[in-house]
Amino acid sequence: MNTENKEIFRDTIATIDDSGKRNFIFPKKPKGRFYNYRTIVSWVLLAIMVASPFIKVKGNQFLLFNVLERKFHIFGFPFWPQDFHLLVISLLVSVVFIILFTVIFGRIFCGWMCPQTIFMEMVFRKVEYLIEGDRSKQIKLDKQEWNAEKIRKRVLKWIIFFIISFVISNVFLAYIIGSDQVLRYITDGPFEHLSTLIYLLVFTGVFYFIFAWFREQVCIIVCPYGRLQGVLLDNKSINVAYDFVRGEGDNGRKKLRKGENRDELGHGDCIDCKQCVQVCPTGIDIRNGTQLECINCTACIDACDEIMDKSGFDRGLIRYASEDDIEKNEKFKFNARLIAYSVILTILVGVLVTMLFLRNDVEATILRLPGQTFQSTETTIKNVYTVKFINKTTRDIENVEVKLISHEGTVELIGGTSNIKKQGLKEGTLFIEINKNDLSSSKEKLEIGIYSNGELIETTATNFMGPLKIK
Ligand code: SF4
Ligand code: SF4
Repeated sequence: MNTENKEIFRDTIATIDDSGKRNFIFPKKPKGRFYNYRTIVSWVLLAIMVASPFIKVKGNQFLLFNVLERKFHIFGFPFWPQDFHLLVISLLVSVVFIILFTVIFGRIFCGWMCPQTIFMEMVFRKVEYLIEGDRSKQIKLDKQEWNAEKIRKRVLKWIIFFIISFVISNVFLAYIIGSDQVLRYITDGPFEHLSTLIYLLVFTGVFYFIFAWFREQVCIIVCPYGRLQGVLLDNKSINVAYDFVRGEGDNGRKKLRKGENRDELGHGDCIDCKQCVQVCPTGIDIRNGTQLECINCTACIDACDEIMDKSGFDRGLIRYASEDDIEKNEKFKFNARLIAYSVILTILVGVLVTMLFLRNDVEATILRLPGQTFQSTETTIKNVYTVKFINKTTRDIENVEVKLISHEGTVELIGGTSNIKKQGLKEGTLFIEINKNDLSSSKEKLEIGIYSNGELIETTATNFMGPLKIK
């Protein structure tokens, strides 16, 4: 690659130097209207993220993902592994929504809502600016010898980063094992629950590593969503974009000189101040076009708007716009691809809502006891089953009875009627006895009803075995 091309095309990423070593990015502290809006949005989302495991709805945690005990609460509604089909449909809805959203609005989620960006740019980076100062001071500190000032600033920063990572780990744990459990562990004292403390420290180490060292590389190297941009975006997608028509003019970007007539000279509105590059947390130059590393954080919009104000040009040289908008002045239109995604999304949402409404309060599973065949008397045949009830509601279900719907016969639930505690699971044994005259084959399908206080609350099916010749 010759040096002339190097000015225009790039074949490297900003976070790795020519020798292949990590290049740390020291972005300039952003300021401007988008940064102010983002700060407000971030604080609201941070509050929701931290509070969600501690909020209770009818006694249920607002959000719980207890994979260890297979308990899930979404917006306070309990879900069980038996509701796995709902999870699959929810995931499909999310994927189609993300595709549709990304095709229209590009990577807006990354800059405004992604927890990685929020913690990195609005929490850890702010601490860094507070302790080490803005970009130039951080670069100077990084280059200088390990003197008293550097040790003091770096150690203070690392301690605060560690504390924040520890707090994030506790919140993360509250999502997994439940906030009540976490609060109990805290009041019991950490050494009462050493294994949990070790897990917490491992999580803390991971978060510390991500936010203190790995940083923007999560977005560039690890995040699958970021890597999908290449196939999701087209020239109609709205992104943070540089208006190259206006910025480059006929004779390209040039530094601003006093008294010059840029229109006559054919220079664009970009004065090549590189402020947009210096504020970029992933170290890219947005003037090279839409790039995989761009998280749409809008920092370059704010930086460029400030320069445009100072230079007497109109704002918006870098703005939210599609390539077609910039190049052909074509505004956003709903095309066939977007209509197709919208139809699929509407259908999936419809299926999900219907299934949520049809979801039973009680899930009953009745299976024949393994290794057992059947008992036969003169007139009847008896099968033995294991029965499992799951109460998915937030109230106790009382006086549960099991009755045959499809056949005449008797059902004996060991222990008689029973109550199932809210969000509880109850297992037991069940005998079903049917008159031989009512059976027509050696393997009969039975429809069984589950009743609470005499009211049918769930139906289920099972097999009933008998001899090859019934009568
Ligand atoms: S190019 Fe602009 S929007 Fe994209 S990451 Fe860099 S500063 Fe943020
Ligand atoms: S901040 Fe604006 S004017 Fe300055 S280099 Fe970037 S695009 Fe050009």
